[in-house]
Amino acid sequence: MKVGPLVVQVAMAGEARPFLQRGDFRRLLAEGSEEAFGFEIYEGRAEGGHPVIVAVAGLDPRFGVDSIGTIPAALLTQRLIDRFAPRLLVNAGTAGGFERQGGRIGDVYLGDEAAVFHDRRIPLDGFRAMGAGHYPLHASKALADALSLRVGIVSTGDSLDCSVEDHAQLSALSASVKDMEAAAIAYVCERRGVPLLLVKAITDIVDHEAETAAQFLQNYGMAVARLADALVAIVARLSLPEEPG
Ligand code: SAH
Repeated sequence: MKVGPLVVQVAMAGEARPFLQRGDFRRLLAEGSEEAFGFEIYEGRAEGGHPVIVAVAGLDPRFGVDSIGTIPAALLTQRLIDRFAPRLLVNAGTAGGFERQGGRIGDVYLGDEAAVFHDRRIPLDGFRAMGAGHYPLHASKALADALSLRVGIVSTGDSLDCSVEDHAQLSALSASVKDMEAAAIAYVCERRGVPLLLVKAITDIVDHEAETAAQFLQNYGMAVARLADALVAIVARLSLPEEPG
């Protein structure tokens, strides 16, 4: 049985804040490459008293905004696995949802089946499948049932908007959730043999007329509050001795 800590990885400081504030955390000193990238790592106990490490991609040292997207996400995951050897990694964040999959703003999803990329189109023999990824995830159905959360396929790309090609690919992949980090994290987790759970709160509906960035900003506060509720419950559940699904 793996004995390392439960580690929660988040892209934006605002996504982590309500969860951190509801628990008791202290920031750890940066080690190795962490300072160069602006990664922030907290150690403590979630509401309910369960020990957990929380890592935030942090502010980009040059641009002064949250380091969202796949590259900082993958580098942080690699760093977290080296430093903490997590028994399970949880990637939590906000994301876009899909009306055609029954998604609504404020829903919280657990990633199901696999994590995929929708913006890596490589029409060459052997590379198509590599582009889409289909990285394995920790089983989430029992946990979703127990906590009344939704399950669905999470798809990742490095843009907040959604091109015509992205739309086609998201539909072909049957994605319920669109984010900018999950599949990159899942790639590292698969290579390193660390189970990964995805927890995504919906801020905007991708297959809808309204502009994504405006929807995102309008619903961000509500979605991160729901994300914190779900994370507190998930951490409690995953900290039980029997570790159900
Ligand atoms: N405009 C925002 C930046 C948000 S970028 C700001 O001003 O702060 C979007 C972040 O939320 C990424 O980390 C991504 O994982 C997630 N996200 C939310 N909605 C998304 C969507 N529709 N498509 C892709 N990522 C989304």
